[in-house]
Amino acid sequence: NYRCRSAFKLLEIDDRYKVLKPGFTVIDCGAAPGAWSQVAVQRVNSAGQDPALPKGRVIGIDLLHISPLEGAEFLAMHDITMASTLTALEKLLSGAQAHAFLSDMAPNATGFRELDHERLVSMCLSMLDMADRLLKPGGSLICKCWDGALANKLQQKLSTLFKDVRKVKPKASRKESSELFFLARMFKT
Ligand code: SAM
Repeated sequence: NYRCRSAFKLLEIDDRYKVLKPGFTVIDCGAAPGAWSQVAVQRVNSAGQDPALPKGRVIGIDLLHISPLEGAEFLAMHDITMASTLTALEKLLSGAQAHAFLSDMAPNATGFRELDHERLVSMCLSMLDMADRLLKPGGSLICKCWDGALANKLQQKLSTLFKDVRKVKPKASRKESSELFFLARMFKT
């Protein structure tokens, strides 16, 4: 049972593109209430469910509290845009790098579409700064965006850092018409 239906979007993307593999370290940005982290825990084997496979690691970050989840570590009450969050994440990783960054972040809606879009893109760019420091060469990133003037800018920025960048629209997100996901693969290779 997933904590939120958003899980099905990540399941769909990962079934198709196989971003998450056993043994991987994954950073889940905007993780509350924790459904994407549940999917990530299953896929990277971070709770050690299959002792025959390598054990991964899932670290979730959110402004909000997140109920404990076996196989995941949470930086709750952390803002992705703050330098102190990067420091806390670096400390948890203690020199290691991540295989994948995920973001299903969304700002609190103001009701002004353009403004919400700008805020979401700027949060994605903050995550990208983090990924730039902490993602392994060859790593992947999935991030939610809303259609709008800055979506292309974000895509261009991703294209400077990743070899393969595409837009994906899982069936599970069809009703949220302006929502799309960027899948970026092969970081700096
Ligand atoms: N992927 C989650 C799941 O499956 O359970 C749902 C994520 S929800 C759609 C978006 C989340 O982004 C919210 O929990 C919100 O608190 C978080 N968020 C918004 N702004 C943030 C920021 N600046 N830093 C970290 N998290 C943020």
